[in-house]
Amino acid sequence: MTKRESKADLFCFSSPKEEQKEKHLDSQTTFCPHADCPAKGQTGKGNIRIHSRQDQRYKCKECGQTFTETKGTPFYRLHHSPDLLVRVVTLLAHGCPPQAIVAAFGLDERTVSDWQQRAAAQCRQVHEHLVAHPRDLGEVQADELRVKRQGAIVWVALAMQTATRLWLGGVVSEHRDRWLITRLIEQVRHGALCLPLLLVTDGLAAYGTAWRKVFRDKVARVGRGRCRLQSWAGLCYAQVIKRYQERRVVAVERRIKAGEPEQVEALRHQAHESSVLNTAFIERRWRNVPWAADFSGAAHAGVSTAHRYHRAGNVARRHTLQLLHGA
Ligand SMILES: [Zn+2]
Repeated sequence: MTKRESKADLFCFSSPKEEQKEKHLDSQTTFCPHADCPAKGQTGKGNIRIHSRQDQRYKCKECGQTFTETKGTPFYRLHHSPDLLVRVVTLLAHGCPPQAIVAAFGLDERTVSDWQQRAAAQCRQVHEHLVAHPRDLGEVQADELRVKRQGAIVWVALAMQTATRLWLGGVVSEHRDRWLITRLIEQVRHGALCLPLLLVTDGLAAYGTAWRKVFRDKVARVGRGRCRLQSWAGLCYAQVIKRYQERRVVAVERRIKAGEPEQVEALRHQAHESSVLNTAFIERRWRNVPWAADFSGAAHAGVSTAHRYHRAGNVARRHTLQLLHGA
């Protein structure tokens, strides 16, 4: 028995071989993952058959290629139990330091880092597959949070469709700058149909600039020279700026920076029942999700901003984890 197997036994994990024995291969719900196959991503077409039960492999009749059941998932070519990977990513998502995981499970630090990257890639793919499709967004709220990590500070920018509370995208950067906000707005654009759209944010000026630059299309022209860029019709942008005194909000200023007030009001009314423009939905979303109860408690107890944001970072990681479990 290897050192790795003995650790797995200690934590009651089944070995990869044991798990394989228990698995049931289902060719009806499996699809071909090969990019050049005409049947790529299609289920129930009858083109998949079981190639080898022992090696957990399928074969596609369309392209003739074989592939494992775990192809395209974080478990592909994994030399440990999938259960162990899920537990390690669970711990990372709850803010557990990688060094603690290395010590507890006897894993190499590079392995833990690799699993984190695998999980991140999976989450990105799930997000792109399920969320990044053009839809009528109506009102979008965006916010950025300062997250304290071990030895570093990072900024997390997030955008949410207000009506459905759907996270449209998130970007992490060391700086709260135009780059961060532009990448976020680009993600919003990937999920937007060219219809009237309202963005509501805090007073960070970078949103306005990014909003104008990203939501433009080239206009075809005759002759030589650069194409002209034309902004989408019906784009509205509003800011909700809060003023604080001793951690209490003492004033709220609302500014419509782009769009007609009537159109802003109409889009806001479609998205929610509140009587005024606000960024409450994205702020509340951080606190009220079930797996963020501790963050909610910390925020209401008036703990330091840094601590609150640290907890918010944990919430972000847990959101990532939810995606992994759901995938
Ligand atoms: Zn194929």
